[in-house]
Amino acid sequence: MPETRDLSRAPVAAARDIAPLREFVVAFGRLLDRMPDEPRLLSEGGALLGRLVSRDDWLPDAFAQPHPDHYQQFLLHADSTERFSVVSFVWGPGQITPIHDHTVWGLVGVLRGAEESQGFVRRDDGWTVDGEAVRLLPGDVEPLSPTVGDVHRVRNLFDDRVSVSIHVYGANIGSVRRHMYPAEGGRKLFVSGYSSAVLPNLWDRSAEMRGT
Ligand code: FE
Repeated sequence: MPETRDLSRAPVAAARDIAPLREFVVAFGRLLDRMPDEPRLLSEGGALLGRLVSRDDWLPDAFAQPHPDHYQQFLLHADSTERFSVVSFVWGPGQITPIHDHTVWGLVGVLRGAEESQGFVRRDDGWTVDGEAVRLLPGDVEPLSPTVGDVHRVRNLFDDRVSVSIHVYGANIGSVRRHMYPAEGGRKLFVSGYSSAVLPNLWDRSAEMRGT
């Protein structure tokens, strides 16, 4: 005789409710199913990301941990066919990226703190700043793409606190060969990889099901 399940049992860990991230991932997949052109993808996907980062109550602490020496990149979700990935970037005080490209479309949304993104354009003798740096505050989203500007440098605007941003890319970004552009010239191939081997569990909906 099968064991009777105790439906009243509380979840093992009453962690932060990750439902907003699951809902974002589902909505983003549905958006891609409609195969929008890139402007629509960046605009509608940007609106979805803007909604996700307009509240800061869902990211588990394990995926918001800074490292003293470098910024961290925690994979939160990878689409099963690698159409997109979602990553939390955790910036320690004053941390900064090299000048780099992505080679795929991207959306950057600030969840906590603030960051600055400086675009670059190629000139004969290297890369030069492209206009004003963009300051991103919680809830703000910036699109990236090889078609609208793909080379930038990002830094935590704060020298005394952690900032966190949520990035969405048009690939499994941890498998993409791209480039950084050192100040001394030339370019260096890199694959960014991830800071952790574990992902948050988006799919435990048992508490929701027990409650209905
Ligand atoms: Fe970037």
